[in-house]
Amino acid sequence: MKKIISWLIRFVPRKYLQRVGGFGLKAVATFFYRGSAVTCPVCEYSYRSFMPYGRINPRPNALCPNCLSLERHRLIWLYLHERTNFFQSKLHVLHIAPEACFIKRLEKIHGDYYITADIESPLAKVKMDIHEIPFTANTFDAVLCNHVLEHVRDDIQAMSEIYRVLKPGGFAILQVPFFNPIPEVTFEDNTITDPREREKVFGQDDHVRKYGHDYPKRMERAGLKAIEDNFVNDLPEETRKKFGLVKGETLYKGVKV
Ligand SMILES: [Zn+2]
Repeated sequence: MKKIISWLIRFVPRKYLQRVGGFGLKAVATFFYRGSAVTCPVCEYSYRSFMPYGRINPRPNALCPNCLSLERHRLIWLYLHERTNFFQSKLHVLHIAPEACFIKRLEKIHGDYYITADIESPLAKVKMDIHEIPFTANTFDAVLCNHVLEHVRDDIQAMSEIYRVLKPGGFAILQVPFFNPIPEVTFEDNTITDPREREKVFGQDDHVRKYGHDYPKRMERAGLKAIEDNFVNDLPEETRKKFGLVKGETLYKGVKV
């Protein structure tokens, strides 16, 4: 059973895993991951460790068996708690390509002001193309858009749209993946369409660019003030261990000044 589950979480794309709600993981975790060494800050469940996750080289201690959060979700959750006003009042929030582990919890906090949107995910309420966000300017206090920009045709256009719909003073959390060796300049080539070729060049078969160290400059080209926050490095090692966080994972926040 444990083997079947670890095969599933390696080979079933995350979007499907989220749709079926991590079938079976909770049951497996009850037997094999019982313990209190780690705690998921999103769902507050504790385990002996998180589950391994990742298709090619599974990372140990990555996936929360209860809410399916990964390292990056736990980082974003803690960051929003500790460094922003996100949880302090009802905000108008646009959550693009919403992660299952966040949806119910954010709905509870922000109510009808919390809007999920995606081009295809059945988890989202609004169907939209990020290149043309169907909301008026200056609508949202916060936009969450994580691990989306590496998939879209024109990321600058997408971020310009995010900038447009943010209120002045509003912010967007815009995490993207980086693959070693990280290039100086972001590499994109829309003539590469073969999934195997994309995996080789961009790191995953549905990615259309490989982000480089110039990512904050791309955010600024879209009008956003780019903030690179190494929040996770400031936390004590025991805290990183307890919440299953990765040292060196930079938080990218775009602010509409
Ligand atoms: Zn969790």
